[in-house]
Amino acid sequence: MTAPVRKFAADGQMAAVPPPVYVALDFSEPAAAEVLMHRLDPGRCGLKVGKELFTRTGAEWVRALVAQGFPVFLDLKFHDIPHTVEQACRAAADLGVRIVNVHASGGRAMLAAARRAIPAEAGVPALIAVTVLTSMDQSALQEVGIQRALPDQVAALAQMAAEEGLDGVVCSAWEARHMRDIFTQAHPWIVTPGIRPAGTAADDQSRIMTPREAMDAGATALVIGRPITRAPDPAAALDAILASLD
Ligand code: C5P
Repeated sequence: MTAPVRKFAADGQMAAVPPPVYVALDFSEPAAAEVLMHRLDPGRCGLKVGKELFTRTGAEWVRALVAQGFPVFLDLKFHDIPHTVEQACRAAADLGVRIVNVHASGGRAMLAAARRAIPAEAGVPALIAVTVLTSMDQSALQEVGIQRALPDQVAALAQMAAEEGLDGVVCSAWEARHMRDIFTQAHPWIVTPGIRPAGTAADDQSRIMTPREAMDAGATALVIGRPITRAPDPAAALDAILASLD
């Protein structure tokens, strides 16, 4: 049995969004990613391409994913001077990807530059912010000169991203509800990793939620890697996840 494709309007635009699962292509070799992709239906999931795979494969490879119909989350977390980020965002949008992200800690001018490159009115790609990396704890923040409590730093960066008109944020599902208070548009992009279907291994993730719990907590898109990529039948694992969201 296949779950129906869900659609919702992004930011008042009637941009159809496929099922809210982005499969994390955490592979060092494109061949492994391609084997997986051929087992997945582009109408039923998006794909997340991060720095490692992108650095190995490049823009044309991403273009090919888009051409196959996959919504692509280009997870390159741009962070540079405003002009450079503006141009990088323009280049990412030209690839036809569905989501682009930038570090909110790049500052207000950088966020505004990213927004100029990817106007909100276009609806696509979604431009979302990374706040504090989950690898950073309070002492790591202090070491780079940030004295604020970590949750306050996350909230302050998210607030700034929202003020600059970004479409949402990547965050833990445990922060999703709070982020919905900050990104007040009708359909913000609250993109959450750390998702584990009931009964699957947590791996190295600590604060996990099931897909259903995360959506109920305010997530609007889920990044899921190993529970799908390492499943004996990735398409069946994805189907089970989509069915759990109905
Ligand atoms: O395999 P798994 O489902 O844990 O993969 C999660 C994906 O989300 C990985 O690509 C990981 O780098 C990414 N991610 C994360 N936690 C964050 C941000 C990104 O797990 N805070």
